[in-house]
Formats: sequence, C-alpha cells, structure tokens
Amino acid sequence: MIKVVKFGGSSLANTEQFQKVGDIIKKDDGRRYIVPSAPGKRFADDIKVTDMLYDCYNTAVKGKDFSKKLDTIKKRYYEIIEGLGLSLSLEKEFKTMEACFIGKAGRDYAASRGEYLNGIILAHYLEYEFIDAAEVIFFDEKGNFDAEKTDQILSERLLISERAVIPGFYGSMPNDTIKTFSRGGSDVTGSIVAKAIKADLYENWTDVSGFLVADPRIIEDPEVINTITYKELRELSYMGATVLHEDAIFPVRKQGIPINIRNTNAPDEMGTMIVESTSKRSEYTITGIAGKKGFATVSIEKDMMNSELGFGRKVLEVFEKNKISFEHMPSGIDTMSIVVHQSEFENIEQEVLAGLHRNVQPDVIEIESGIALIAVVGRGMKSTRGTAGRIFSALAHARINVKMIDQGSSELNIIIGVKEEDFERAIRAIYDIFVITKI
Ligand code: ASP
Repeated sequence: MIKVVKFGGSSLANTEQFQKVGDIIKKDDGRRYIVPSAPGKRFADDIKVTDMLYDCYNTAVKGKDFSKKLDTIKKRYYEIIEGLGLSLSLEKEFKTMEACFIGKAGRDYAASRGEYLNGIILAHYLEYEFIDAAEVIFFDEKGNFDAEKTDQILSERLLISERAVIPGFYGSMPNDTIKTFSRGGSDVTGSIVAKAIKADLYENWTDVSGFLVADPRIIEDPEVINTITYKELRELSYMGATVLHEDAIFPVRKQGIPINIRNTNAPDEMGTMIVESTSKRSEYTITGIAGKKGFATVSIEKDMMNSELGFGRKVLEVFEKNKISFEHMPSGIDTMSIVVHQSEFENIEQEVLAGLHRNVQPDVIEIESGIALIAVVGRGMKSTRGTAGRIFSALAHARINVKMIDQGSSELNIIIGVKEEDFERAIRAIYDIFVITKI
C-alpha cells in the first residue's frame, strides 16, 4: 500500500504539531511520500510563514532593511528544530535566501522557501530522503503546470526513493526560476505526487475532521461527510465550501486515486473519502449544502418569447459582449432570468440594459440585487422522491421566500435563490430537515 500524505500549514505550525505529524506517519508503514506546507497559524491571529515571506521579500525589493523580518521567520523554524531536539542547521539555507532576496529572485521564490525549509526539517525528523520540488515539479514557459514532463521525471525519481519528503506549493520554470501554484497549492503538489507514484490513497491532513455537510459558521457543529464523489465536491466547492485546492482533484481523479481528508488534531477520526464513484449511500438524502451571497438577477419578460427564434442567444450575447459571465438561467414561457455576480455586473448594468433593449426589445426588464444562492447537493437525490418538495416546505415553514429554483440536469443539485438576509436561516432550515429530523 503506497500512501501520499500531505500536511497543511496548521499541522506543521510548531513543535507539538510536528510531533503529531511524526506519530501519524509512523503509525502506518504505507505513508511513504510526504508533502508538507509551510508553517501555518499557531493561533487565530498568528501570521503564516508564507505571508511573512511575501512581506519580507516586498521589503527587500524596495531596497529596505529586511533583516528583522527575516529574523522573525528564522525564529519560527529554529523553535521547531530546537523543540524537536534535532541537530540541524539552516544557516546555509538562510544565507542563500538572503542573497537571493537582495538579487530579486522573485516573489514566488520567496514564498516557496516556506515549504522548502519545512520539508528539510521534516525529512530530517522522519529520517526520510528530501527531494527538492524544483527538481521534480515543472512549469512551462507560460507558467502553466507541465504535467507530462513532471509525471515522467517525478515518477522516475520516486521509484528510486523508498521514502521521501517533497515540499508542496512550488516547482521550477524552464529557465530554472521558481514558480508556485496559487495559494493553498501544496494540495496540488500532493495530488501530483500521488499520481506519479500511482499511490493507493492520497491523504490530505488538515485541521478539520473532513468535509462538513454545511458551513460551521452557520450550523453549529455540523456532521462530517463520510464519502463524497468528485462531482459532488465540485458542486459544493464552487459554492464556497473549501477544504481542498480546486486543482488538486484533477491529477488523482484521472487515476482513480481516492483522497482522504483527515484531521491532524483528531487522527482517530476517519474524515472524508473523496471518490470517483461509490455504491455507498450517503447517510442523508443530501450530501452537503453550500451557498454564496452577492448575486443579482436580471429578469426579462416578453410576450411570445417562447416562439421567437434565437431569443436566448441574443440575450446571452449582450452579457458576453459586456464580459459578464452568468451563473444560472432559469426560464419560463415568456420570462427569462439571468443570474450574475453583482460585483461584476454593477458597473456595467446600464450598458447591459441598453444592449438588451436593442437586441430583443423586451416588454419589461427587472433587476434585483442582494440575492444569495444555495446549492443542495447529493447523489442520493436522483433516487429519492420529494427532495425538492421537502426543501421548499422547510423554507416555507421558516417563512423564506424562494426567488429562484434551478435543478441541474444531472439531478445532483438543486440551486435555490433567496434574499441575502434569509441566507443563513434558509441553510439552517434545509440542514434541519435533512440531517437533524431526517425526514
Ligand atoms: N503555504 C502556501 C499557502 O499558504 C501553500 C499551502 O499551504 O498549501 O498558501
């Protein structure tokens, strides 16, 4: 059994967390390839090392004295090294870093040092080999991840290493400079490593016990989702539920490698399994609920709209010309609504209205702002009668007016639009009916 195991920043934020990580790795012989993040927050308003590095580099680039900022970063690493009782010096690394900061080696280079140094410490602590991600993860000239080159070189390299630590978040460009993925990108590295070594499982250790049925800021202590499919995850992530970097799914998904989200602070909990497909029924009819505020709807009415050939296309053309992408498009016989992001739409709304008048001569156009969208997602909905009915009766009971409904054709999700002020209450009502009362 080969497992690729990624630990997030809070899992490696200090000595105590490093020890937990060490115990987790030692507990399972299959945990052979480890991908660490940079040290994250130790407490709520702490600063992540990655952010400290960006800040330090900004100071360096301006030609100002950055030695104090660098010292604070050094201190974070030395506290860990000393706490673990390791005889390891990073002085040489820090000297190189300092010179590269002065030489303006780039923001990405600066940020990548967070994972690089943490990787060196972790490898030393575990007595695993250290493989610099710059030697095995590649980007092309345009800065896009080069999957083919990476896969070839990385898999060859991993085959000759029984156990290794590969720092997350970065790789190298064809001109040997360092490039990072977007924030949270160590998740992506973990997935790439899992694919390259053809792992049986990609474990992603973080500080929550998996993917939650609903946002814990809205629902107190929500249930954990035991098993979720990639498709369900995508629907929920799109609507704002985040545990994993979006790009982390593609490499492993292609290979059918499941991802297991686990909690470093509660290692006995099994977390969430993310799989391609499953015969396991989810515990509840729905798998999860997520949502976002900040939408507006543009509703267009025109008599006999249904028989006017090309009406929809002409409407969408106006949005396209004004570079507004739309989220949903529920329609009736003589009505059509376009749901857009309010912040994108606001500045250009009058141009869009004028365009619509010109293109389709509508009878009425109405704009409504302050809309929140809620996605109720679940593979179980396909085979269950009355899911939509239950959602709407729950919302009616909670006296919430539903502004819009859109069921995806895959029957995997139902999207509901409500006023922003009803958002939290709506989520509570839906959670209540499916998870608490389970009817
Ligand atoms: N350290 C990087 C960040 O803070 C990458 C990661 O943690 O995945 O975004």
